[in-house]
Amino acid sequence: MSTNHLPKPTAVVFDLGKVLLEFDYGIVARRLAAHSGRDAEQIRGLLDQSPLLLRFESGQMTNEEFFREVSGLTGYTGAFEEFAGIFGDIFSAIHPMIDLHAQLRARGVPTFIFSNTNELAVRHIRANYPFFAHFTDYIYSHEAGAMKPDHRIYEIVERRTGRTGAELLYIDDRKENVDAGAARGWRVVHHQLPEQTIAAVRAAGLV
Ligand SMILES: [Mg+2]
Repeated sequence: MSTNHLPKPTAVVFDLGKVLLEFDYGIVARRLAAHSGRDAEQIRGLLDQSPLLLRFESGQMTNEEFFREVSGLTGYTGAFEEFAGIFGDIFSAIHPMIDLHAQLRARGVPTFIFSNTNELAVRHIRANYPFFAHFTDYIYSHEAGAMKPDHRIYEIVERRTGRTGAELLYIDDRKENVDAGAARGWRVVHHQLPEQTIAAVRAAGLV
């Protein structure tokens, strides 16, 4: 299908994890394991995609409550600040996508972060990745009290961007998340490889 007849989107909504930053809970698991009686694989199972992390990222637990639960489950004996440092430090830059974001900003295109995340991760990213300061606004699951693909957090994006439907171009690596955007009429890119996503943003006339 040709995209030439669609109006040009006026804002780009970026997922964060595995779109702009790679992440690996295996790193946390290995570091926590060094301070606890558990092995790294068990700890990883307690974190990555776990009910505990879902509760934390949907805003149902404070940082301290999450810290206490993880410490109790893993036997981790370190202090909160050390834990926060370990827990946040799981990311690495996906440079072609960060460059794409810079190009959009240079052209004056408003850009938004739309992420299932938590305050410890955001704190770490803000302190370590300068590109992260340059978005128009940020919609986080832990602040919204809802996670993608829940429709409530997509409604928050529409309010905060002041846009709906095909005015929004949304990039996310998780199929269920882009499907929820597409169902609202957003233009979507199911992110797999940076070169494909960059080509799609170019085809939309934005860079
Ligand atoms: Mg993602």
